[in-house]
Amino acid sequence: MQIPHLIRAHQPFVSLEFFPPKKKEEWPGFLEVARELGQLKPLFASVTYGAGGSTQSNTLEICEQLIQTCGFEVMPHLTGVTADREKIDGFLLAIKALGIENVLALRGDRPSGFTGTDEELFAAFPHAEHLVGYIRTHHPQLAIGVAGFPEGHAEASSFGDDLEVMRRKVECGADFVITQLYFDNRTYFDYVERLRARGVNVPIVPGILPIRNLGSLRFILEMCNARIPGRLINSLMKAHEDGGAKAVYEIGVAYARRQVQELLDGGAPGVHLYTLNKADMCLQVMDGLL
Ligand SMILES: Cc1cc2nc3c(=O)[nH]c(=O)nc-3n(C[C@H](O)[C@H](O)[C@H](O)COP(=O)(O)OP(=O)(O)OC[C@H]3O[C@@H](n4cnc5c(N)ncnc54)[C@H](O)[C@@H]3O)c2cc1C
Repeated sequence: MQIPHLIRAHQPFVSLEFFPPKKKEEWPGFLEVARELGQLKPLFASVTYGAGGSTQSNTLEICEQLIQTCGFEVMPHLTGVTADREKIDGFLLAIKALGIENVLALRGDRPSGFTGTDEELFAAFPHAEHLVGYIRTHHPQLAIGVAGFPEGHAEASSFGDDLEVMRRKVECGADFVITQLYFDNRTYFDYVERLRARGVNVPIVPGILPIRNLGSLRFILEMCNARIPGRLINSLMKAHEDGGAKAVYEIGVAYARRQVQELLDGGAPGVHLYTLNKADMCLQVMDGLL
């Protein structure tokens, strides 16, 4: 079923993001995790699309497995990186054959080691809006999600320009938005207000990453440019000194629970959890919240 219909009918909700494990021998363990997370009755599960090579076909295979073994409504991600129309059509026809009705359309990023120009990398689809427009025209049966950046995208010339990009993505056919992770809910509520003021009226689903350990904190800082409130960093550091990894984990759960509760109280339609393919923390974060 199309996610916008599901969102209209079931609020508040939780949805889950997974990435395809690189090695096939990790797949049974991964599917066990997904089955465990089925307890949350996720509205849908999304599966990331790798920057290059084999993980792209893994996206499709993992989607198929999640449908068959967990009964999830699934949404593969898709990027325009080094893609031509034929490749995009091939992917979209394959998901159609699996009965999938949703796709998250992204520009994608420069793969590490790619030495060519941006023009080569994003030749057919220079920005997400071009991919959205193509899908809307040539695969109209699909509902299209797009990525939103409550703190602004790192390459955007200004926050205002980035909001305008989102307005155009929706104008080109995007049906809903999933946000990049962030840690201060005011950022999300402000982002929603600003987009509404520009006439963007599609659902905007906040993306939440529970912080598991100091390693994931470093990853967030390096990869996502997310701002981490000083109060949160201080409490994580203090927890690490006083109680080690377990105490850090407990702070991560408590913080994400507060974030989710506040979002749902404040009118967010649901939350999209970045699971990092782990069940325990997401189950604890959501316990009793829906
Ligand atoms: C929920 C979510 C899921 C993701 N999943 C994946 C994944 O599975 N695989 C993956 O590789 N990456 C994924 N990403 C990362 C994403 O590909 C990168 O953040 C990428 O840099 C931007 O993608 P986009 O679709 O937002 O691009 P765009 O919307 O094209 O924006 C990219 C940049 O270009 C600017 N821009 C856009 N259009 C124009 C224009 N017409 N003129 C000038 N500037 C413009 C924007 O302001 C922005 O700075 C995900 C991100 C999120 C938030």
